[in-house]
Amino acid sequence: MTKRRRPDAGVCRECGVEFRVYNTGPMPGRCRPCKSRWRPPRTYADRRAGYRANRLARVMAVRKCIDRAQAATTPKAARRGLPWTPAEDAAVLGSDLRDVETALLVGRTYQAVVARRHTLRKHASTG
Ligand SMILES: [Zn+2]
Repeated sequence: MTKRRRPDAGVCRECGVEFRVYNTGPMPGRCRPCKSRWRPPRTYADRRAGYRANRLARVMAVRKCIDRAQAATTPKAARRGLPWTPAEDAAVLGSDLRDVETALLVGRTYQAVVARRHTLRKHASTG
């Protein structure tokens, strides 16, 4: 004869752990941790609300990053305002360096490097 399981005990449907007191109610058959961990499924509106709540913080974080890079490269940008040479264009397009490092290498500001690559790619794509 097999050992009978207590009728009020069970195995959690979520994690498989045995529990002693069977849960009834909105989440039957779950252990206590799984029951308390459960949240209603996130809807599209929930995700949109989360996105909007964090939007400004993320924009400001990116802005801070750009400002820091610009501040680091501006004092050393000896070629600021001068025409771009083919060697500089090549460095902007084909370099494995980070944009800040490229800017320091060619004597431009960070934003100048970003804008120059944007311009070069735009012209390359439109012909
Ligand atoms: Zn569980």
